[in-house]
Amino acid sequence: MELSALKSVFLFLSLFMMTSEYEPQRSEMELAEKRWEMVEKQLTARGIRDSLVIKAFLDVPRHKFVPKEFIDSAYFDSPLPIGKEQTISQPYIVALMTELLELKGPERVLEVGTGSGYQAAILAEIGCEVYTIEIIEKLSWAARENLKPFGYNNVHFKVGDGHRGWEEHSPFDAIVVTAAPDQIPHSLVSQLKTGGKMVIPVGDINQDLLLITKKELGLDIKTITPVRFVPMTGDARQSGAE
Ligand code: SAM
Repeated sequence: MELSALKSVFLFLSLFMMTSEYEPQRSEMELAEKRWEMVEKQLTARGIRDSLVIKAFLDVPRHKFVPKEFIDSAYFDSPLPIGKEQTISQPYIVALMTELLELKGPERVLEVGTGSGYQAAILAEIGCEVYTIEIIEKLSWAARENLKPFGYNNVHFKVGDGHRGWEEHSPFDAIVVTAAPDQIPHSLVSQLKTGGKMVIPVGDINQDLLLITKKELGLDIKTITPVRFVPMTGDARQSGAE
């Protein structure tokens, strides 16, 4: 199907899906258009190619994961505040991190830093079994509320320090860390399957996004790009470091 026809179908379906909600149809239509533009101008134009990632970004309404006062900015090319001095990450960085994991759908994925729940929704939409940990209890509960209308039964939440990972559900096929530790947390590496991938921002003010692949012997570590995430709080001694 041609791109313009696909866009019309997308906008029609977006409108159809939203009519049961309170917000005015026109604004939902505008938001769906902004979402389409976000995918075109911020993701595919910058090289995001994975069709599962692109479809998830079209299907998950980012404006449902930001505070009401930021709805108009929900499709901007930037992180946004979500309260408690935390942020929902820039769409391109969420897409890049997701694409780097090369997910196909049935994988078991650990997310450290639930935040708004947006990244968890993207992973759930791809079909993954998602285990997400958030250190700030209030944010974890707000994320559960954000996700509730979507009815996912493949997202599992935990309040706690992500340095420890989530041992009971390990090993994970993939891990995505959305807050920056100073060093790679050893416990997260140990909860990754051999052959599994982890994306993680590492550093203090100057951070690098790393793609780590766990090998039979050791780790393959690639530096992807400089990034700026909120720091990973909690107790790094819970995890050891590599
Ligand atoms: N993935 C989130 C989303 O889609 O909205 C964005 C996450 S925000 C950039 C980083 C989150 O990591 C914050 O909510 C913060 O509270 C959380 N965080 C920081 N340190 C943590 C830790 N040690 N364990 C779990 N969560 C942590």
